[in-house]
This record gives sequence, C-alpha cells and structure tokens, in this order.
Amino acid sequence: MTHWWNEPYRLIQTNLREIDVALNPKILIKKVKDFDANVLLINVGGIEAFYPTELEFHHRNIFLNGDMIRDVLEEAHTHDIKVVGRFDFSKSHRYVYEAHPDWFWLRTDGKPVVYNGLYHTCINGGYYQEYIFKILEEALNKYQLDGVFFNMFGYQVYDYSGNYHGICQCLGCKKRFKVMYGKELPKVEDPDDPVYKDYIEFRHNTVEDLTKRVYEFIKSHWPNVGVMFNSKYSDIIRMEVNRAIDRPQPEWEHWSGEQAKYARVFGKGKPFHSAVVYFIDIPYRFVSESQGCLGLRFAQQLAEGGNLDFYVLGTLDQEDTKGYPIVKEIFRYHKKNECYYKDLKSLAKIGLLFSEETREYYGKKNPLDRYIYSFRGAYRMLQEKHHPFDVIYSSLLKDEGFLDELSKYELIVMPNVACIDNEIADILDKFVERGGSILATDNTALYTSKGDPRGEFALKSLGVSALNFIKEDMRSSYLRVEEDMEGFQDTRLIVLDENYIYASLKEGAETSLRLIPPQRYGPPEKCYPDIETSNPGIIWYEYGKGKTAYLPWRIDYLFYKHRLEEYSKVFNLIIEKLLRSGRQIITDAPPQVGVTLYRQISSRDYIIHLVNFSGNNNTAYYNPIPIFDIRLEINTRDEFTSAVLLKMGREIPLESENGNIVLTIPKLDLFEAVVLRKE
Ligand SMILES: [Zn+2]
Repeated sequence: MTHWWNEPYRLIQTNLREIDVALNPKILIKKVKDFDANVLLINVGGIEAFYPTELEFHHRNIFLNGDMIRDVLEEAHTHDIKVVGRFDFSKSHRYVYEAHPDWFWLRTDGKPVVYNGLYHTCINGGYYQEYIFKILEEALNKYQLDGVFFNMFGYQVYDYSGNYHGICQCLGCKKRFKVMYGKELPKVEDPDDPVYKDYIEFRHNTVEDLTKRVYEFIKSHWPNVGVMFNSKYSDIIRMEVNRAIDRPQPEWEHWSGEQAKYARVFGKGKPFHSAVVYFIDIPYRFVSESQGCLGLRFAQQLAEGGNLDFYVLGTLDQEDTKGYPIVKEIFRYHKKNECYYKDLKSLAKIGLLFSEETREYYGKKNPLDRYIYSFRGAYRMLQEKHHPFDVIYSSLLKDEGFLDELSKYELIVMPNVACIDNEIADILDKFVERGGSILATDNTALYTSKGDPRGEFALKSLGVSALNFIKEDMRSSYLRVEEDMEGFQDTRLIVLDENYIYASLKEGAETSLRLIPPQRYGPPEKCYPDIETSNPGIIWYEYGKGKTAYLPWRIDYLFYKHRLEEYSKVFNLIIEKLLRSGRQIITDAPPQVGVTLYRQISSRDYIIHLVNFSGNNNTAYYNPIPIFDIRLEINTRDEFTSAVLLKMGREIPLESENGNIVLTIPKLDLFEAVVLRKE
C-alpha cells in the first residue's frame, strides 16, 4: 500500500501558541495553499490540548471555544492538504504535578523543574510510560489525522533558558537503572565515570524503547497515520535546522545538507526532511532569518532529495514576512518538479563516517572541539572539492546486511573516528579486504566504543603496526612536501598544529610528507630548523584488494579552523588516489559550489544538483552571487541523450569527452538541478 508520505510533499508547521486556538481555519488553509504546501503540521496535544479533551490530566487549552482541530481537518482535507498532529509530552501543568508528582522530573536537590509555570515530565514516569497512550488513543480515535509528530521526546536536562537541571533522580529513573545495570543512578555527569557511561546508554535505550512502543501502538491501530521521529521507529525522518545566537562560531552553513545526508542513509529509503526554522533563535521567535539563509537551507535539502519543511511560531500571520518570498519560490519550484524528487538513489562513491560513540565517549564535555570539528573539516573539504558523498552513522554499520550496502562505496572517510568497537573494526577491515578504501585521520581506531584508550589501532587495514607516542602540542611544526606532489609547485610546507601520532609502520607501508618537528619561532635570529625527521604525514597501505591512507595528524580539524588550501589539496589528492574509478565530477566550479549526484530508480534519469554557497559569510547569509558558465564533466559509463535544467526550465547541449558526459551550466543562482535522460 502506498501512503501519502511516499510521494514528495511540502510541509508547513504552524507551532501554535495557546492563544492561536481561536484561529480561522479557512484563512489558515488558504495561507498554506498560498505557499503551495500540501501538509500542515499543527498542535494537537500534550502540554495543551487544542481540542475538547475528556481526559482528566490532558490540559484543555483555556482559550479553546469549539473544536479547532475538527474544523482545520475538514478545511484541509477539502483542499487535499494532509494534517500532522503535534504532541509535546515534555511538560505539564501544576494540578497534574500535584496529583502525580512521580510523573515528573526530579532534580538532585529534590525539586521539580518548573519553567513559566510548567513542570518537566520524566520519560520513566507514569505520564510518558502510560498516560500518553490514552492521549494518543483519544486524539486518533476522534480525528482523522494523517500523521503525528512528537516534540522534545526524551531527556531534557536544560530548560528554554539554558538552565541545567542535572540527571533526573525520580523513582522511575532509579528503579529502571537498577534493573538494567544493577547500579545506583549517577548524580553527576562525569564522562570518566563508568556508571555515567552506562547512563548515556540507558538514556538512549529507554528513549528507543518508548519510541518503539509508541510507534507500534500507532501502527497497530491506525496504520495510515504517518509517524515522524528521528528514529528507526518512524515512517518519516524529521530533524531541524536552526540558529542559536549563543552557539560557538564559526557558523556551520552545511548543517542542513549534513542532516539530509544523514537522514537519507539512516532512513533507508524513508522520506526525510529538516524543519527549516523561520526565526533567528528561540528567544526571538518572531524575527525572520534572511532569504539567503532560508534559501540555502532549503537548497541543501532539495539537493539530497529531501522534502520541504518550513516551521513558524504561531500562525502564518507574522509581523516579519521578509523571508516568505524565497520560501514560496522554492515551494513552487518543488511543486512544479516533484516528479523528479521521488525514488532517488545517491550515486556517491564516498561515505563519510560519523561516529556517535566518538561524540559521546571521546568528545566528553567538549564534543565540538574534540570531534565534531574534525568531521566538519572533512565534510567541507569533500564539498569544496565537489565530491558527491553520503554521511553514514556508525551505528548503522552493525545492521544486518550493511556490509553489502557498504560495497556501493569505493571509499570510507574516517575523520578522527577515535571510538570504534571490534565488530565495526572488523566490518571496515572486510570492506577494505574486498576492494574498498579507507582514509583515516588522527585518533581513528585508538579507543574502544566506550572511550577507553586501546594502546593500539583497532583497524588491521591501516599501515601502522604499533602506537608509540601521542604528542599533543605540535605548535610550529610543518610537514615537508615531496617535490613531485601535484599542486604544490610553489610551496614545500604545510602547517601542522595540535596532535601528531608516532606509530611503527607495517611492512609494505609507503609514506608521503615528512614531519619537521616544532621549530623556534622567535626571535627571528633563531627561526630556522635544525632537525627534520622521516616521520610521515601520510601512510599508504594495501590490504586485501583494497587500500588505505592514514594521516597521523588533524588535517580535518585544522582545515575547519583555518581553511588553509594545502589541507584540502592534500585531502583531495589522497581521495583521487583511493577512488578506483576516479573522481565522479570534474568541474571548474569554485569551492563555493556543492554538487550532489542522484539517480531516479524508476526512470533511470540522473539528477545533479549544484548549490551556490557564495552568499554565506560566517553568520551572514546574503543572496548568492550568480556564477556563470560552469563546466561539468560526469564520470559515468551510462549513456544519455539530453540534459534539462529544472530551475531555468530549458534544455542544454550535452557532449561527450574522454567517454564522460560534459555540459555547461550557463548561470547558477541559488541552485540548479540538471536532469540527464536517455530517450
Ligand atoms: Zn526520571
């Protein structure tokens, strides 16, 4: 059976305030239609029931008069618009707390968490474990909702103001932790405490368990209701891309694309999208992002085959509508071209690995600096050198049959993937044995999945046999480049900072780049090297039918921080060597252009997206600067007879060179999509 969510769609979320329950359904639906959206996500229950509930502990919105949900559903369905109900069970009211204090979060000082009069619930209390099923049953029996979405489903240790409330100490948490781990619940988040490491797992497993129960409950009674979660127990993967004014800079302008790349692989064919938040931050919910920002987020979703998802606080009657034109333009484009946005399969030959264990157990209290910046540096180098790539979460590797899934890739990139368990190491070694390649950096494979140092490398496929020493302060070091290294005619030096890992080489390993250890950098009279070494910057190794490159330093992290072109040049050279069938896209596009490569399974068409990031400058998002006459060469043996630009709405000439397809994009504004067809 085909469900509505298996066709491309455009969603608008009106995240209603309690006063908005008095809205006019006809006006709301008209505005949704003005955006060319065909799915509306609207508040139904949880903190406030936006409908006349009969349940004692489901707080009826005090502004409710009549039945808004019934009226919205009727109007929406008349216009063929699907309605997804939003539920937020993370908080409730004082009278519920006074009747059932055991349903609520308990701080280490014995107090509940109260924010603007609302009490935080706990996922292990009776509200989440039992009562929410009554709420769902009532709402889904009463209304023909087409889907459900759950907000803030999990452990909320912070409130909206960013106040930290610590580990919940409620009886539900204590009992369950004791049953699952035989230990007392920790009181402090200490990343080096083994009990806290268990607690991280506990949090994950209890959320997953409840998600599964909710999913199965809904599917067993209302199979046509689509469930939206960022979980394997969902029909639709939904994430969110937003700004936070206190978030450490630099801005990560690829966040939307990163989420889409993750969601597509993780969802294994399920529809996915990230809610593009209209406002600039939670404390300023009524001021719009610039059109440049909203446009770039949506373009990245489109480029990965995501659906469109736009989120406003309140109704569509906003005081600031400066962002609307670009949203409408992109929604209109998607409506016109939606036949190209289904059934898409990524043709990327590179998988960029993201390790959840490394983020948690190696990242500790500073995952950005300890791990995520390395991931982002690798992401950015791939993107700027126009390599199509996917993002693979490490937990997927253990899924049955995923090793075969991996075989579609020629290269797995592992940026500082410190934590890795033996099973995953084994899977990755097998991948290389069968002919795949790995590019690994820094601490990769040096820690267990729980963050304990191994003292050796878990991957057999790397060209290093023993770990000798990790030096953490390499300030003022360099790597010397060999004379014949391509693209380095005018420099022999690469900046090396942060870590360097001294390791013994396996027999047969080959090396490139030489370490010049820390130099005197003052006074000028003393600034010259007196020691150079043969310690390598790249270690090449052949393993089975495949090949690996290991860089015992932080190339990705350093690129993220400093953007020096030598890093991306070296990274790119390694990638070109490791891709058996060569690079997929050859182009003269500047680094501000990202390229994705998909095939529509049913039509066999290729769809290639180019996204123009030139409007972005850290937290500023201007309109992108148009780029003209971009040459695009696609390395493929598939044959095509025509090329159509979807955004421009015209056909362009298609040529063949060196057996590759060659075309020229006359003008690139925010994005373009090229469809290659064989007629
Ligand atoms: Zn609790």
